[in-house]
Amino acid sequence: MSDSTSPTVLIEIEDSSGFCFGVTTAISKAESELAKTHSLFCLGDIVHNGMECERLRRLGLETIGHKDLATLPVGSKVLLRAHGEPPTTYQIAEERGISLIDATCPVVLQLQRRIKKVYDEVPRPQIVIYGKRGHAEVLGLVGQTDGEAIVIEGVEEAARLDFTRDTALFSQTTKSLQGFQRIVEHITTHIQPPARFRYFDTICRQVANRLPNIKEFASRHDAIIFVCGLKSSNGRVLFEACREVNPRSYLTDTPDAIQNEWLQNVRSIGICGATSTPKWLMEQCKEKIISLAR
Ligand code: SF4
Repeated sequence: MSDSTSPTVLIEIEDSSGFCFGVTTAISKAESELAKTHSLFCLGDIVHNGMECERLRRLGLETIGHKDLATLPVGSKVLLRAHGEPPTTYQIAEERGISLIDATCPVVLQLQRRIKKVYDEVPRPQIVIYGKRGHAEVLGLVGQTDGEAIVIEGVEEAARLDFTRDTALFSQTTKSLQGFQRIVEHITTHIQPPARFRYFDTICRQVANRLPNIKEFASRHDAIIFVCGLKSSNGRVLFEACREVNPRSYLTDTPDAIQNEWLQNVRSIGICGATSTPKWLMEQCKEKIISLAR
């Protein structure tokens, strides 16, 4: 730690960092059920943050996988997280007598419905989803099309598409607007009439609106400590945005991973995080930085 990490160093936690309303709602639903029963299953990690998952685990939340649905006792309660689920999950739960607490984010739910509506059109267009292959939200979206939708992770994968077919493009809610725009431009220039191209900007503004704010925040500080779970896809996008404007941006999922050398020769340190980062964790990171400065 340099002398500039003396008590005069400014440490600021970004105001708009922290859980989005989808994650906040899912966690509130889990907490209110756990307050009554002290036991609840959650299908997948409730949030891509190991420390928040651990806090809820201590309250009685048990994370399970899809395979576990087949063996849960009848009457078990399972929470579906904000990412949403494919229709098969609802079918299995019904068949097995499992009761669901559905915390699918309303933004994701609306996107699932829009995809389903387009999938049911006759003739059926080619459905393309800009998203991360294998991500839970994307699996839920592809599930609306019986697995037929084509997932592309960026414009470089657009060559796989059939430009002679009517095409409808959607986006995972946490992808970047810029990346989406690049795909729109590529398909627009390659589509072969009479094939028709439609696109639906389904990017969540809880994430997209944070990009300009976080860049402004990152450029105002000498160093940025970006706090998020290493599996968070939204975290990755926001962290890269910080790094673009401030090369001294560091990613950590826990206060203990903060390294002394990150804080060398700085007069101001900004702490920010993803939509899956709890405020309490950012506060702990601030305490850690202060303790390293002593
Ligand atoms: S990022 Fe947006 S879509 Fe995703 S859970 Fe949060 S509010 Fe919902």
